[in-house]
Amino acid sequence: MSMKRYAPLLALAGLALAQAAPAQTVALRHARVIDGNGGAPLENATVLIENGRIAAVGADASVKLPAKAKLIDLAGKSVLPGLISDHSHLGITDGTGAGPQNYNRANIVRELRQWQRYGVTTVTSLGLNGPLFYTLQREAHAGTLPGADIFGADRGIGVPAGAPPMNVAADQLYRPSTPEQARAAVDETATRHPSFVKVWVDDFHHSVPAKMSPEVYRAALDEAHKKGLRVAAHVYYLADAKQLVADGADVIAHGVRDEPVDQAFVDALKAHGTWYIPTLGLDESFYIYAQQPAWMQTAFFRQAVQPALAAQFADPAWRAKVLDPKALAVNQASVKTNQANLKRLYDAGVKIGFGTDSGATPLRLPGFAEHRELHLITEAGLTPLQAISLATRDAAALLKLDDRGTLAPGKRADLLVVDGDPSHAIADLDRIEAVWQRGRQVAGPIAP
Ligand SMILES: [Zn+2]
Repeated sequence: MSMKRYAPLLALAGLALAQAAPAQTVALRHARVIDGNGGAPLENATVLIENGRIAAVGADASVKLPAKAKLIDLAGKSVLPGLISDHSHLGITDGTGAGPQNYNRANIVRELRQWQRYGVTTVTSLGLNGPLFYTLQREAHAGTLPGADIFGADRGIGVPAGAPPMNVAADQLYRPSTPEQARAAVDETATRHPSFVKVWVDDFHHSVPAKMSPEVYRAALDEAHKKGLRVAAHVYYLADAKQLVADGADVIAHGVRDEPVDQAFVDALKAHGTWYIPTLGLDESFYIYAQQPAWMQTAFFRQAVQPALAAQFADPAWRAKVLDPKALAVNQASVKTNQANLKRLYDAGVKIGFGTDSGATPLRLPGFAEHRELHLITEAGLTPLQAISLATRDAAALLKLDDRGTLAPGKRADLLVVDGDPSHAIADLDRIEAVWQRGRQVAGPIAP
């Protein structure tokens, strides 16, 4: 084998080594600090990083700097916690395609590095995970895997000839026919200690023949709770979401999109303490790229798109098919309903998580999708600071992670540095200067 063929392997080994090396002491100086808690930003502030963790955050003058600290001047820049996705998927897509062949280390690391470049430093793969997931998760938690940190929902519980309508390997999904089979699937899942069990309760606008019966998902919920596992449920319809909340689902993993939510649903979510992840960008992804908005010309977008996918977006035949008026109307209405429901639930004090279903199809672009989601959340009527808190503090709380999500002493130094002030203009969140993970800079600006 020639040296040329060894070169990428050596580069990869070097990267892994760099991630495992002890982090230095660094002081980010004169920055605007948005700590994730939703309050007004702290201007002219310092974030002190030691041993991969945040050692201090405060006004420049108040933070005592160790003599060995490397000083980085961030005047005019904002520092905020790394973004956290509560709903994504790993290893499903590559280019324009999807299939079980994509659930491999190289492709998943490619995706995790893309999330990281866009400032998403923690990702939840909410179902469809094969055995490789646990190997990669161990490495990610040890700091030896490149890219975003990962949590997951194992394979998940689907329906024979129904949801999810996806081509995955037998070891990526269960499709039980009976409550007994659902319990057995959950028991097997529990031996692997995932963060969640996933269930899919949807018939995709009546396009698949069967929807999971309440008997089957009640069995899965009951068995998961007996094993100390939380359940995240894919939904579309309000009626299903209501029943799942009443039956004890812990996370509603998509927004309700068929009709406006009502007070009974608000009350039920609050009474049960159920989390709700809107995924506003999901239905938009079906059509937005065919409409070719101006932002598709930016490097920030183009750097998230693999060449084959870029070619598809430019193909007039593909665009015409996607912009079929009937489907377009349904998807646009879903986005509007989802946005209005988010605003109502947020204002009522329901626990809202953050995610986009990025990675589930080629159209849900890791990293870019999370920035688009933040834009859509502000379009729904939340302030930029409220949106940022959802994607940091609250997304961590959904995962029950107390080591990240805000900028405070003791938290992991997973940070995003951007130009400008995203507490006023959410678009400034796209002006990435640097991404830090575990106290080390792991990415710079998104540039062509
Ligand atoms: Zn999903």
